[in-house]
Amino acid sequence: MAILITGGCGYIGSHTCVEMLSAGYDIVVMDNYYNSKPEALVRIKELSGKDFPFYECDIRDAEGLRRIFRENKIEAVIHFAGLKAVGESVRIPLAYYDNNVGGTVVLCQVMAEMGCKRMIFSSSATVYGTGNPSPLKEDMPTGAVTNPYGRTKHMIEGILQDLCVSDPEWSVILLRYFTPIGAHESGRIGEDPNGIPNNLMPYISQVAIGKLPRLSVFGNDYDTPDGTGVRDYIHVVDLACGHVRAVDYALTHTGAQAINLGTGNGCSVLDLVNAFVTANQVEVPYVIAPRRPGDVAVCYSDPTKAGELLGWTANRDLTDMCRDTWRWQNQNPRGYDN
Ligand code: NAD
Ligand code: UDP
Repeated sequence: MAILITGGCGYIGSHTCVEMLSAGYDIVVMDNYYNSKPEALVRIKELSGKDFPFYECDIRDAEGLRRIFRENKIEAVIHFAGLKAVGESVRIPLAYYDNNVGGTVVLCQVMAEMGCKRMIFSSSATVYGTGNPSPLKEDMPTGAVTNPYGRTKHMIEGILQDLCVSDPEWSVILLRYFTPIGAHESGRIGEDPNGIPNNLMPYISQVAIGKLPRLSVFGNDYDTPDGTGVRDYIHVVDLACGHVRAVDYALTHTGAQAINLGTGNGCSVLDLVNAFVTANQVEVPYVIAPRRPGDVAVCYSDPTKAGELLGWTANRDLTDMCRDTWRWQNQNPRGYDN
């Protein structure tokens, strides 16, 4: 029996493949390479020393999915595939609803048809939206989202919860990620954004290596200790390990569970810049810029439920996150294109 990993060539997916293989699971990977490269597969195999089937396939392609289920014994799906750029989702919302929501519906239809009813879904802290105080807990209200990307995550959570109500054989874990950063400690896999990064950590590392002149800090007038936005940064390998625990859980339970994956620690933009400079002995010039529309001031998790249900806690700190990001950036200045 194997676990199907959709979007397994992407940033979080590639790290999860490595951790799943090292935990002894067999995996099958599928991706349409919209935001990833085949080289990620080469490196996953190199790091794990294991081989596995790969399908170049789109989650909206029902016949392509059927073939994967026919050719492999799939007992659960870790579903990463989707579009994730917040700004782009405002410009082209239909592409986001089609890919993320439509794609997930097709995937669930084929899973049900093939008798595979266990899914780990990549949700996001963004579903907590505005109006909830941090630390954010799973039973707080969700849905006051600020962009179409966030709405797709909230809609998919609802769809998967409805599915579990309609059929008690389904098992769904909605993993609400806080802000993943860092890279595998080998420096062989990491985040490889196309063009100019939208997110803070890849931006910092591209400034540090001299690809970009300076960081713009989006607002220093928030109601936070230093005025800059506070997030719960989590090492991508800790996040990947959370998926292994979630699969263990989904194989032995039914019903839907939303679970935060975060450290529980709030870190400001300037805290992260300073941690990066100290950990790596590099310079990161920055300027203060206006707030980014749609950003909340503070967003960090209460990770208690993940500890209780999955026996999981994050154990890598900010220094690890900064060092591992820098190692990846330095060893792969052009990402997977080297
Ligand atoms: P990513 O873009 O690196 O990985 C997503 C992968 O899915 C890519 O390899 C892409 O080619 C593939 N893909 C996209 N659409 C597809 C389709 N229709 N069919 C098949 N493959 C498709 O992103 P990531 O950072 O690894 O994120 C993985 C998941 O986690 C996404 O669903 C994302 O929304 C969610 N998430 C990410 C973050 C974050 O900050 N990175 C935070 C919260 C949630
Ligand atoms: N941020 C910033 N400059 C950038 C990118 C991000 O100041 O170039 C800030 C952003 O306003 C937020 C924090 O960094 O307070 C984290 O942003 P990111 O997009 O990485 O993660 P998210 O907000 O989606 O969790």
